Amino acid sequence: MPIKRESDKATFPRILIAEDDPLSCGLLEMYLEEAGYPYASVSNGREALELFTREPFPIVITDWLMPEMDGTELCHAIRNNLSDSYTFLILLTSQNSPDAIVEGLESGADDYIVKPINPAELRVRLKGARRILDLEENLKNSLEEIRELSIHDPLTGAFNRGYLDHQLKHEVQRAYRYQHPLSVMICDLDHFKKVNDTYGHQTGDTVLKDCVKNISASIRQNIDWVARFGGEEFVIVLPETDAAGCNVVAERIRERVALNPGAKDGGLVSVTASFGVVTLVPKTSIPLSSPEDLLKRADINLYQAKDTGRNRVVSEVLLI
Ligand code: GH3
Ligand code: MG
Ligand code: MG
Ligand code: MG
Repeated sequence: MPIKRESDKATFPRILIAEDDPLSCGLLEMYLEEAGYPYASVSNGREALELFTREPFPIVITDWLMPEMDGTELCHAIRNNLSDSYTFLILLTSQNSPDAIVEGLESGADDYIVKPINPAELRVRLKGARRILDLEENLKNSLEEIRELSIHDPLTGAFNRGYLDHQLKHEVQRAYRYQHPLSVMICDLDHFKKVNDTYGHQTGDTVLKDCVKNISASIRQNIDWVARFGGEEFVIVLPETDAAGCNVVAERIRERVALNPGAKDGGLVSVTASFGVVTLVPKTSIPLSSPEDLLKRADINLYQAKDTGRNRVVSEVLLI
């Protein structure tokens, strides 16, 4: 993450000011303007909370004593707000006593500034706030990255086996709950061992990646999904798709794979794939079939596709 500089106005977090005294508010606005922070100001805690609820701010500077809702109440309310991002709260106080400071921080404030505000102190307090916000942002990005890694196959980018096991269970439950069809297919590359033996493992890897690209280009984004089941086998899940619709998609993928040979040192590597397909048509809202059943049926159909010449689709409807 790039280090933010003082002059880099565009990356400065937006600040919400809650201050009922126009003079103090005007001064604070001037200091923030000079330091390069964008801001919005309101004159009591209730207005601040209303604005915050509509559009969360990463930093809130609030006066303590204000009409309608005071600063500590605002801090409590913001801490109870279920926002995805952290809000750094700075309380302005005219009292420098330890008791007042403890009470202010107990209400959920992260920091406090004693009035009258010293602009240099304000700047360093805000620098501290930005450090915390940056850390939080980095942590969130890392968690997202870990989550992505934990559900994807690193070679092809398809979902992994763990995701398949977890998500297919939900899809089956949903299909029964809404009594909608669900189609599942296993796609297995034909004579893939020969590709490795002839061109090497690296080319084999490229063919696997290309295969996932061809599958992804043939299915609905954000609805259908593909997972790597094993070495050169992929499971493709088409929610709310009947047998006719699934056949169209399976044929589309089969053709795409067969007609798009991968490039290899100026030459081309041709592959084909076979498909075992099952379409679940729920007859009741009680789940009488399971992901394991569906995968087993799809696998049996895949074997039939292999046995009857490969580069083909064998499908079945399961009314249960
Ligand atoms: P069939 O048409 O009957 O499916 O024959 P096949 O050769 O595709 O099937 P088989 O199961 O005999 O071989 C699968 C091959 O897939 C063997 C294995 O080396 C290869 N494979 C599995 N995972 C990977 C991988 O990650 N990268 C590469 N390059 N090859 C892989
Ligand atoms: Mg006040
Ligand atoms: Mg296989
Ligand atoms: Mg194979």
